[in-house]
Amino acid sequence: MSLPSFERIYIDEASEGSDVAARVRSLYPAEIISVATSDNDLLNRKGPMSAEEFNRSKRTLWLTTFKGQFFKRCPGATQKKALTCCNYHVLNLGSQCNMNCSYCYLQSYLNSHVTKIFTNIDQALAELKEMAESFPSQPFRVGTGEVIDSLSLDEITLYSRKLIEFFNQYPNWMLEFKTKSAKVDQFLDVTTKGNTTVSWSINPPAVIESEEHGTARLHERLAAAEKCLQKGFKIAFHIDPMIWHPEWKENYTSLAEELNKKFRAEDVHIISLGTLRFQPEQRHMMRERFGMNSYVTSAEMFKGEGDKLRYDAALRAEMFQFMIQKMKSLNPKWNIFLCMETPETWIQSFEKIPMQMPELRSFFKPLPQVREFQNS
Ligand code: SF4
Repeated sequence: MSLPSFERIYIDEASEGSDVAARVRSLYPAEIISVATSDNDLLNRKGPMSAEEFNRSKRTLWLTTFKGQFFKRCPGATQKKALTCCNYHVLNLGSQCNMNCSYCYLQSYLNSHVTKIFTNIDQALAELKEMAESFPSQPFRVGTGEVIDSLSLDEITLYSRKLIEFFNQYPNWMLEFKTKSAKVDQFLDVTTKGNTTVSWSINPPAVIESEEHGTARLHERLAAAEKCLQKGFKIAFHIDPMIWHPEWKENYTSLAEELNKKFRAEDVHIISLGTLRFQPEQRHMMRERFGMNSYVTSAEMFKGEGDKLRYDAALRAEMFQFMIQKMKSLNPKWNIFLCMETPETWIQSFEKIPMQMPELRSFFKPLPQVREFQNS
């Protein structure tokens, strides 16, 4: 496995004594590491980035401490009532990503000009402990892959190890890593109580090749999933974003067959489906960064729920129905759901909304007692 590549690494004075700082100093050449000073223009810079600044933000790493509250709600749960979301909680232990997908929403979301890793994970764990004490029977689901890939920088932080061990104390909680990397070897020796799900966003090889630059190839992601399964971790797949291209039916059929060949439906916790969506304001940056020779930058998109650009509703429903029928024809036991979709699309695709589907109801049940921990 090759190390994530950075041209420059800055370390805050407050982060110097952390395990992550020690590990970074042991893994990367001293010439590219500097102490972060308060007058560093790049680290202080905030606001929208040009395409070149965004590219550079992926090559510059800043080890710092997070000053706010770590524990947040999934954006879908707080943004728009129109979206049917899965009551999911997010824990951000850094921001930016060392991979490079053409559709990545971070292109319109981030305003820091560097990749950050927060070194005060102990504070995050203390917040979680407080929640555990306040709501001992609440079955929280916590994901770490909102504004940073859960695992692509994990060989630097080794945070997966701490989190798995922490969650082992709360067997009715679920920890979810979400990744497009194949970096799992660093935690496979940690015993899980079965409440850590490692999940992969997957796409057919043609889409990975065209749109998901610097990510693990499909066969590498599936091989990593097999390793996790063998070690007792739950696994899940997000076929998301499904991307229209001329051969989409053949390619998504092959993907469904590959999943069916490699995994038993009962071993895969869930398969979520989503279609391409992004904020209109990132279209310009996407075109500047990836040109028009991309299924994403050249797609015909329409403004829809959450003000995002999406395929039109009929195409979304066609893609969902196609994939659901394909998976179910291979094995009716596959547990499939739609993420960040409207009730209308659920009904078109499944003829039901999630609360009417016993196997999915627990994912969507509101958790009213945890409101005080929500982000505003
Ligand atoms: S792996 Fe995820 S976070 Fe990273 S570039 Fe791709 S979409 Fe963005």
